[in-house]
Amino acid sequence: MGPLLELNNVSYAYHGKNGETDALSDISFQVFPGEFIAVVGPSGCGKSTLLSLISGLLSPERGSILFEGQADKSKIGYMLQRDHLFEWRTIYRNITLGLEVQHRMDAGAKERVDTMLKEYGLERFRDARPSELSGGMRQRAALIRTLAPDPELLLLDEPFSALDYQTRLKVCDDVADILRREKKTALLVTHDLSEAISMADRIVVLTERPAYIRAILDVKFAPGTPFERRNAPEFSNYFNLLWKELNVDERQ
Ligand code: ADP
Repeated sequence: MGPLLELNNVSYAYHGKNGETDALSDISFQVFPGEFIAVVGPSGCGKSTLLSLISGLLSPERGSILFEGQADKSKIGYMLQRDHLFEWRTIYRNITLGLEVQHRMDAGAKERVDTMLKEYGLERFRDARPSELSGGMRQRAALIRTLAPDPELLLLDEPFSALDYQTRLKVCDDVADILRREKKTALLVTHDLSEAISMADRIVVLTERPAYIRAILDVKFAPGTPFERRNAPEFSNYFNLLWKELNVDERQ
């Protein structure tokens, strides 16, 4: 099977009044259907820029980004750091907002949303306002909203960073479970190495800005939840490996 997403020699710089900020340099990797890829790197290295390029919000200055071999990005869903749920809409109407705007609220979409609300424990909160939900539940609602148009690839930009530690562990398990059951391919950007190791099949390690790829690490565990991975003996080996990759001294 061919790659779902393919980045070939992608480079990007921001051009502002105060000059140029090189963000990404010669990034190439592929994502295959069903994979969970994490991208880690130091703060400010260009991770969010990478997602903006993949989603089509920005265009690469050099190189190409292909989705199923094409330039069309309409089957990509993007979940941001904050849940961006609107307080004046109910949970249901928040979840269906994107579908409404795109005039895609057909019978199939309605059924998909109803099923996800039931399966992922939000049915009771369908008519509630976002402020009535816990942080974890809000994140689940935001994920269902991203999944509602049935995207083939999900981009997750530090989706757990606003949550406290315990909620974060729980939401990681929830999100991994939902993505596995919905058979989605995902690309997660995070600066949290433990999060990357607990969720990913492969980890792309970026350098300081302008980021290039330092390494791509295969992650293999017995089947289990992110929480179970954190307690597995291999976990600390992966952590040390990643830590070393991120702290290679360029001057040596
Ligand atoms: P990360 O997500 O890894 O923290 P970003 O992709 O947000 O990094 O940013 C990469 C670099 O590009 C940073 O130095 C940031 O200051 C700069 N940058 C981000 N957005 C803009 C912008 N709109 N204009 C100019 N520079 C930007």
